[in-house]
Amino acid sequence: MNRRNFLKFAGLAGGTIAAATAGKALAAGTGSGGGAVGSETEFVGMLVDTTKCIGCRSCEEACNQANNLPAPKESFSSEEVFKLRRDTTPEAFTVVNRYENPKDPSKPIFARKQCMHCNQPGCASACLVRALEKKPEGPIVYNKERCMGCRYCMIACPFDIPKYEYQSATPFVKKCIFCYSRLKKGEKPACAEACPEGATLFGTRRELLEEARRRIYTEPDRYHNKVYGEHEVGGTGWLYLSSVPFEKIGMKTNLGTTPLPEHTSGFLFGVPHVFVLWPTLLAGLAYMNRDKGDDGQGGGKGHE
Ligand code: SF4
Ligand code: SF4
Ligand code: SF4
Repeated sequence: MNRRNFLKFAGLAGGTIAAATAGKALAAGTGSGGGAVGSETEFVGMLVDTTKCIGCRSCEEACNQANNLPAPKESFSSEEVFKLRRDTTPEAFTVVNRYENPKDPSKPIFARKQCMHCNQPGCASACLVRALEKKPEGPIVYNKERCMGCRYCMIACPFDIPKYEYQSATPFVKKCIFCYSRLKKGEKPACAEACPEGATLFGTRRELLEEARRRIYTEPDRYHNKVYGEHEVGGTGWLYLSSVPFEKIGMKTNLGTTPLPEHTSGFLFGVPHVFVLWPTLLAGLAYMNRDKGDDGQGGGKGHE
């Protein structure tokens, strides 16, 4: 994506997110501001405001269609799904769950789940054939042609997001890829476009953080005083607001602030042959895997 197209899609941020400064250089590094190292591009992100979510599941339906996923057993208008706590699957890259509201039992809280698009993603650092890759704009995308099915990404993800198509004869890893092909065309992610409540807001990560802090500051009774994703595992592209502590809505609050790749770097740098031999071996296995007749259909049109 060139700079002009990036500015175009970052500028699509809805609501009060202007994204006017998208594309400006951030300081090099991977702080909470979220720029890629040495990049002039800001990371994009999403702000999920669970106080606004009504559980309509329009985001699920839009994601299903944008990624050409199979139709679910229960229709997207069914509330039966809320009886169980759901996880993402190879056929559902995002799911909305319902939680009891300790402040007001008559008003349940709805919170969606999908890839958090970490600033420093454990999944991508664990994938030695670079099938999962962080793009300069922030999304972590999947290249099925490179994937050799080791599933290290699934082990490395602190949010248990990548799912494997165990039932498929030609299995691939599946997860939200931030509608990267839509972003490249200057379009919003399908789920953000579909949300009727503005509960899923697209923009640059920096501006979304500012917006999240502004909401907490101006409505302290409405919001729990924390932006989830600001610091967790080094910061994530998807940020959350909630009226209650985040563990009440199924979010992990024990992950710490250290990026996952830093936990493994000591081992990797201490064993140089990992870099020399292991990628070569994995790349060779991946090549053989492709030659076994994979049709390369690891995902919908959103996948690279
Ligand atoms: S949430 Fe998991 S799959 Fe998504 S970027 Fe982070 S480590 Fe990777
Ligand atoms: S960004 Fe795209 S792939 Fe990710 S949950 Fe939203 S619609 Fe699905
Ligand atoms: S579309 Fe928006 S309001 Fe509806 S369930 Fe998804 S996030 Fe909530």
